[in-house]
Amino acid sequence: MKVTILEHTCEPQKLAAAAARICRHDEDAQLVLKNLSDKECSRLIDECLQKGHESVLEHASFTFAIEGISRVTTHQLVRHRIASYSQQSLRHTRIEGGDSFVIPPEIKDNEGACGIFRKCCTDALVSYNGMIDMGIKPEDARYILPMGVRSRIIVTMNARSLRNFFRLRTCSKAQWEIRETALRMLDEVREAAPGLFRDSGPPCMEGKCPEGDLECFKEMSNKIKREKNDA
Ligand SMILES: Cc1cc2nc3c(=O)[nH]c(=O)nc-3n(C[C@H](O)[C@H](O)[C@H](O)COP(=O)(O)OP(=O)(O)OC[C@H]3O[C@@H](n4cnc5c(N)ncnc54)[C@H](O)[C@@H]3O)c2cc1C
Repeated sequence: MKVTILEHTCEPQKLAAAAARICRHDEDAQLVLKNLSDKECSRLIDECLQKGHESVLEHASFTFAIEGISRVTTHQLVRHRIASYSQQSLRHTRIEGGDSFVIPPEIKDNEGACGIFRKCCTDALVSYNGMIDMGIKPEDARYILPMGVRSRIIVTMNARSLRNFFRLRTCSKAQWEIRETALRMLDEVREAAPGLFRDSGPPCMEGKCPEGDLECFKEMSNKIKREKNDA
């Protein structure tokens, strides 16, 4: 899987902070944006996060390219409605073989299961290509492909929606591939806009667990905190 930021709002933290300041001060918007110091910017963002004035975060958006993830995972990803998506079309592109399927680590580590998995993918691919060679359109032949087939997707989310996404999907109980995707996206945005995502991660980082236990709290929150401190 490859996760990269293609584009983001030019100065995401400054824009969100300027939006916050403009809510409370009768000042020229362009001058506010121009004159905001880094210190004032951090103070305003921290205050908004603390008070739940999160709509200012919606002005900052980030566009990611996520390549090589399974359709299992893109299906979970696109359930996040406050976002825009463009996904590789299986009407207009053809699965060629080779490394076309994501194999879950648990299956990869089990020789027997991995054999079954690979055989099933190979058989599906042979049937898929066979049908296309018979004149069946790729849009119909694709019905036979396993859900593990790799895909590419472009995702644009604003910072508020991303924070919700990270809260839900970086949890150690989230499914492994969407968690891996979310963690990589979090790494990317932390580099681009640390102030907006400083405290982003699973709810256990705040001592709460929607799953009802904090069994894995140390593992995940310490991992994320460690990465945050390293950044
Ligand atoms: C652990 C876990 C298990 C899950 N299991 C299942 C499952 O078994 N089956 C399944 O179908 N899905 C499942 N999901 C998907 C889940 O229900 C959400 O669809 C997905 O996580 C997107 O979250 P969201 O709605 O918060 O995000 P978004 O769609 O990005 O929405 C962001 C926020 O906007 C608000 N919002 C958006 N749309 C509306 C609306 N129409 N009305 C009111 N408020 C809205 C909500 O506050 C929402 O949190 C699961 C998710 C997780 C994390």
